[in-house]
Amino acid sequence: MQRPDEQARTYLVTGGAGFVGSHFADVLLAEGNRIVALDDFSTGRMDNIDHLLDHPGFELVHGDITDADLVDELASGADVLIHLAASVGVKLILEQPVRTLENNVVGTETVLKAARRHEKKILLASTSEVYGKGRRVPFSEEDDVVLGATSESRWAYAASKMMDEFYGLAYHQEYGLPVVPFRLFNTAGPRQTGHYGMVIPRLVNQALDDERITVYGDGTQRRCFCDVADAVRAIAGLAKHPDAPGKVYNVGSTEEVSIRELAERIKIMTGSSSEIVLVPYSKAYQDPGYEDMERRKPDTRRVNSLLGWSPENTLDDILNRVISYVREQRAGATASRR
Ligand code: UDP
Repeated sequence: MQRPDEQARTYLVTGGAGFVGSHFADVLLAEGNRIVALDDFSTGRMDNIDHLLDHPGFELVHGDITDADLVDELASGADVLIHLAASVGVKLILEQPVRTLENNVVGTETVLKAARRHEKKILLASTSEVYGKGRRVPFSEEDDVVLGATSESRWAYAASKMMDEFYGLAYHQEYGLPVVPFRLFNTAGPRQTGHYGMVIPRLVNQALDDERITVYGDGTQRRCFCDVADAVRAIAGLAKHPDAPGKVYNVGSTEEVSIRELAERIKIMTGSSSEIVLVPYSKAYQDPGYEDMERRKPDTRRVNSLLGWSPENTLDDILNRVISYVREQRAGATASRR
């Protein structure tokens, strides 16, 4: 929360119409700040920000993060840059490897150059994917990263985000730019779509449709899901803290659940009659070499000791919220068709 003595600031949020970006905008606008949201609507959605369009502190710019002139102009008018725009989600990466690399490497380079020219603090979104096949759980920021062969597109995503981190840290080291890369672990909540593979919205939609609930592999793989509201609180805290720059931060929950158990909970909480089925990875991802992570759990001591941050919401809170959101969306869609 903004302290009363804190000044309102202007945040340029790339990917501002996306899942995380739109929640960030909600929270920071409520504190009295200004938000300039830049989005190319490749995965961002108007639905996510419709409610903000009339807000006097909100400005939407439809454009691309690789458009250097545009990014430069927007950066000059902002106090802080929050770079969330990226190609995310395993499905998208497997389908569009070239676009992923362009967005994630060239896009970040463009935003970093603009931040440097105008001497602005910049937060860079990275991902727990960079831990790759690491087995030392929980994952800590200084751990080695273990990626697979370059013939597997899946690893292009992790490598592109690692480049972003290297780039950001290099700008910090060489030019003294205040850069804060943060690694988002599995994050969930309202507005996340299942179109790009994310498991919670996919399974909730399947359960509500009484369709088969698809658990990939044997369902023993484990994840920790962080509520997007908690993740946004961490990002805002890092954006405001003067000592955050120059280090990478894990942002995620430490409450572990197996995907099988997740499916069972969703089935019970929705009162669904769906059958839970196991789908082999080869079929799920149409990629014979696909490797899933068995466990993914963050060590969050770094962000906790800097900000005193830890998640406030449990997995059940997240599921309740997502289920209500999907139900409301469906009721709205039905009403507007009448
Ligand atoms: N998953 C699943 N069924 C689905 C979609 C995903 O069992 O319909 C699994 C996926 O294989 C992974 C976990 O759920 O083990 C989380 O997937 P997601 O894509 O949400 O995030 P990831 O952890 O893979 O980045």
